[in-house]
Amino acid sequence: MQYNYLNGKFLYKNESKISTEDRGFNFADGIYEVIAFRKKNLLNYSRHINRLKCSLQSLKINSPFKNLSSLHFILKYLIEINHIENGFIYLQITRGSSERNHLYSPKLKSNLFISIFQTKNFSKYKKTGVKVITSNDIRWKRCDIKSISLLANVIGKQAAFRMKAYETWQKYKNYITEGTTSNAFIIKNKKIFTHKKNNYILGGVTRDAVIEIIKKKKIKLVEKKFSIDDAFGADEAFLTSTTVGILPVIKIDNKKVSNGKIGSLTKELMFDYEVYLEKQIKYE
Ligand code: PMP
Repeated sequence: MQYNYLNGKFLYKNESKISTEDRGFNFADGIYEVIAFRKKNLLNYSRHINRLKCSLQSLKINSPFKNLSSLHFILKYLIEINHIENGFIYLQITRGSSERNHLYSPKLKSNLFISIFQTKNFSKYKKTGVKVITSNDIRWKRCDIKSISLLANVIGKQAAFRMKAYETWQKYKNYITEGTTSNAFIIKNKKIFTHKKNNYILGGVTRDAVIEIIKKKKIKLVEKKFSIDDAFGADEAFLTSTTVGILPVIKIDNKKVSNGKIGSLTKELMFDYEVYLEKQIKYE
């Protein structure tokens, strides 16, 4: 039986229940994080915590933690009691529970929910690369906040699935912003392009880590929006997220990226990112 954590208690999954007056349930008034762990080590942890703090502050949601070191303890304990070696933490904080009303009291006590799941196997995608489709970015203009309001992302991801693609790259005025669950990158003439961090994208933790690697390797990086035609003309393309790391993109809207094979620079970055994650693992 799997354990979750809900508002101060470790509970069996089927016993963790939340009020129907939870504002997450009624208004999607909440934020979340997904954090990977390997060999029970939390990966890119401080980056996730920094983003969590930004999301809470942006929406003025009260933090459920007196101090954030208690969160680290909770996560480690949850991993331990679930006996999972490699997986992901899903952490959700909503503004709290109160009678349904758009207005809220600034004093509301937030609801904290944490669940855990096993790593999925993406090795096939890493070997073959994935297809992406494109569609208009219909999201609100605060995509930098990791809000649980994900309806546009759900629609986009499902559209990709219907087309046998992994992801939908969203377009705003003909420029690619990002995927529905990942950040988008293209490579042209050995320069790497990705949308700059602003309110049109979620500042991905993996994106930031990969950018750190790119800069260390002294590869030219351009943090600027790129158009759909730039994407069609790219030499290589890839996407990044916590759940998949780096995935090569070999087709965009059914057009091959270059020769339709995984690019060499993408392969190199995939290897470097693995090394980057391995370095965070403490072997006992
Ligand atoms: N953009 C969106 C819209 C996402 O949902 C995600 C995954 N949560 C990402 C980018 C990638 O972020 P990260 O690398 O932090 O998982």
